[in-house]
Amino acid sequence: MDFDTLMSVICQMQKNIAENREYLSDLDRAIGDGDHGINMDRGFREVMKKLEGSSINTPADLLRTVGMTLAFKVGGAAGPLYGTAFMKASEAVKGKETVSLDDLLPMLDRAIEGIQLRGKAVRGEKTMLDALIPAKEALDQALAEGLAGDDALDAMIKAAEEGAEYTKTIIATKGRASYVGERSIGHMDPGAASSCLLLNAIKTHA
Ligand code: ADP
Ligand code: MG
Repeated sequence: MDFDTLMSVICQMQKNIAENREYLSDLDRAIGDGDHGINMDRGFREVMKKLEGSSINTPADLLRTVGMTLAFKVGGAAGPLYGTAFMKASEAVKGKETVSLDDLLPMLDRAIEGIQLRGKAVRGEKTMLDALIPAKEALDQALAEGLAGDDALDAMIKAAEEGAEYTKTIIATKGRASYVGERSIGHMDPGAASSCLLLNAIKTHA
């Protein structure tokens, strides 16, 4: 994936979020304060503004800029968490002209590490991590089994979506949703849902 393709992935992420703004806010309305769609949509619109006419031309700079914009322009918990994720992912492709499927694994790894460093959550607390960690593990396994590009990405996305589904069955113990305790059962975590939308954007342009 060259720089322009990576740029298309970021644009696709913005589209996916914009198209699902209400859906994400509805999910957040059930267990949080109903702003996740608005937060994410605002963040990615700011990203697009920042990138338009910019002279950024490496994958690492692109990801770092996305991360900084999300971290500093988005209110709520998810902005700084996703911001850290993109900034950390950028470190995994430092100095590279292109990004391959093999780079995606360390990128995801760093992103998850960043989210955990900042948010102190682990798997099973009903957060974006419950989509992202299974996604990373599935990608790891797919690559180890020698699956080709699209099949590996399909496996990654399927695991993320199953992880997001699984968040319906557990109680939130981190973030705002932890305030509603047991009442969070039955509802999908909005951050897990937005993570699926972001990962899906990779597939569209890979
Ligand atoms: P806020 O909760 O401040 O209103 P958002 O609604 O934008 O922010 O984001 C909520 C999402 O952030 C949750 O659905 C969850 O996935 C994620 N989240 C919250 N706290 C954490 C955390 N400590 N670690 C990982 N993800 C978290
Ligand atoms: Mg919220």
